[in-house]
Amino acid sequence: MPALFTWVPSPHHEYPDHPERPGRLTELSARLDSFKAERLTFTPATRDEIARVHSAQMIQTVESASAIGPQIIDFAPTYVTPASFDSALLASGAALGLARAIWAAEAPNGFALVRPPGHHAEPERAMGFCLFNNIAVAAYDLLARGCGRILVVDYDAHHGNGTQESFLHDDRLAYLSTHQWGIYPGTGRIEDAPHAKGRIVNVPLPAYAGDAAFAQISAQVITPMVEKFRPEIILVSAGFDAHWDDPLTSLGVSAAGFYNISKHLVDLAGEHCAGKILFVLEGGYSPRNVAEGASAVFAALTGTRFDDPRDSSPRREADVTGVIESVRAWNGFV
Ligand SMILES: [Zn+2]
Repeated sequence: MPALFTWVPSPHHEYPDHPERPGRLTELSARLDSFKAERLTFTPATRDEIARVHSAQMIQTVESASAIGPQIIDFAPTYVTPASFDSALLASGAALGLARAIWAAEAPNGFALVRPPGHHAEPERAMGFCLFNNIAVAAYDLLARGCGRILVVDYDAHHGNGTQESFLHDDRLAYLSTHQWGIYPGTGRIEDAPHAKGRIVNVPLPAYAGDAAFAQISAQVITPMVEKFRPEIILVSAGFDAHWDDPLTSLGVSAAGFYNISKHLVDLAGEHCAGKILFVLEGGYSPRNVAEGASAVFAALTGTRFDDPRDSSPRREADVTGVIESVRAWNGFV
């Protein structure tokens, strides 16, 4: 069985001079045929499926704002256009449809290539370029299908406040985020969820943490978390804005770094989850970084070789040993 992908480029969800634009996916679009993966057809998420994560009022707000026409709906700034409500339903449907196929063992693993992204969208509000929380919608759908424990790993450069918020009080859901500290949205402290140590795990990183930090986190935080939580499937919020060449952030990771952490996650899924793992695209604001990052993920998913066409970050990597020790101590991974 080949790996699967879903594709939601949302060409009409666009706002003048906004970085979360259709052009983010143009280089990736040109590469789709080169991945050893098959495209899955799917349907848009229904209101009931979205309502497992978001309140009826929040869904209504996104729908009516979209109907009014192009406008900014929060300070990030997050925007909507007349196409946005349908685009957001399609993006969530693409994540959910792929999650179902993997859970039903119709495919070993997959990657939902979607926009708008989702991980900032909270139960009660759209924010941070995100309308509906695609990965949380997929996770809640799997719970409804009998999955007992789901881990979301989020290596986007920003903290996925929306995913954390929607997982906060459900012991069947775990969340691990690596993110640059001091940037949007301001959440993601190690101590964010004292009632959920070992289940809500935040790794706030200094700028230029780089590939070495991702390698240390893989071995010293992700592995012990998986061994302790024992997920039945791993979902990954893959944001390629952690790339050293991203125009918005400065986390310092290379495409080879994305490959290494993704391969580690695929291997852990192989050991603990019968191979079940789904990646969902989040941020990444350089078309080249998105294409190279996604290529790295597909190489990890399909067991093929990945050669990073560029060198790693030109900046010296920051020492993250202290942060990782604090994360391990707080979460009981020692
Ligand atoms: Zn991001």
